Amino acid sequence: MDCTAIVLAAGNSRRLDAETKKQYLDIGGMPVAAYSLRRFQRQEFISRIVLVAGPEDIEYCQKQIVDRYGLTKVEQIIPGGRERFDSVYAGLRACASTDVVFIHDGARPFISDELLAALYADVVQYRACIAAVPVKDTIKISLDGARIDRTPDRNSIWQAQTPQVFSYDLIRRACRAASQAGAYGITDDASCVERYGNTPVHLTLGSYENIKITTPEDLAIASVFAKKYI
Ligand code: C5P
Repeated sequence: MDCTAIVLAAGNSRRLDAETKKQYLDIGGMPVAAYSLRRFQRQEFISRIVLVAGPEDIEYCQKQIVDRYGLTKVEQIIPGGRERFDSVYAGLRACASTDVVFIHDGARPFISDELLAALYADVVQYRACIAAVPVKDTIKISLDGARIDRTPDRNSIWQAQTPQVFSYDLIRRACRAASQAGAYGITDDASCVERYGNTPVHLTLGSYENIKITTPEDLAIASVFAKKYI
C-alpha cells in the first residue's frame, strides 16, 4: 500500500506570543516541525511526504529543515491556505496518486514509531482512524462562555490528535463535499469524514506526550519530552 504523509506547517500561531511561528521554534536544538518529519522519513511504509507551509516560509523549510535533516522523502513543499482545512485540501490535491494519507500537524513533534505502526494497522482495517486519548478533565459545555449549559459524560469524550489517517479516496471525496458546503468550522480531518464520508472513523489510542504546541506553557513541557524524541 502506498502511503503519503501530509505535514501541515502553514499556521501563523495566533495563540503563541512569539516571533517565530510555533512549528519552527527551536526545541532541544531542532525546529518543532523537524521532529515529526524525521519520524515519517524513517517509516518504511511512508513513501513520500508533502510539506505544507506558508508561501513566505517555503525557502526556509527547504534549506533549514528538508536539506539540513536529509529528509529525502519530502517530495514537495507547497503553499497552504487561510484555514487549516484549506491547507489540508491543498495537500490532498498535491498527492498525485496514493492509497493512504497520514495528515499531521507540524506543531505536534512527539509521535512515536509505535503510534504510527498502530495507525497503519488500523487504516488497513477501518479505512479511517485518528490518534486520540481519553480526556482527563471534566468538560463543560457553555454556549455563552459564562454559564454552564451541560456536563457531558466524561467516559465518552476523547481528545482528537493527529496523525489522522484515511484511505485517500475517502478523505479526498469528504473534503471536496465539505468545501462545496462551505467547510465552516472544520478543525480536524475526521470531522469531514464524519459529516460527508459515510464511513465510521476508528479511534487509535494516542499518547499524552503527543501535544500540540499552542500556548507558551507548552514549550516548557515540550523541552522535557524533546530528549526522548530527538
Ligand atoms: O491552528 P491549529 O493549532 O489547529 O493548527 C494545527 C496545525 O495546522 C499546525 O501545524 C498549523 O501550522 C497547521 N495549519 C496550516 N494552515 C493553516 C492553519 C494551520 O497548515 N491555515
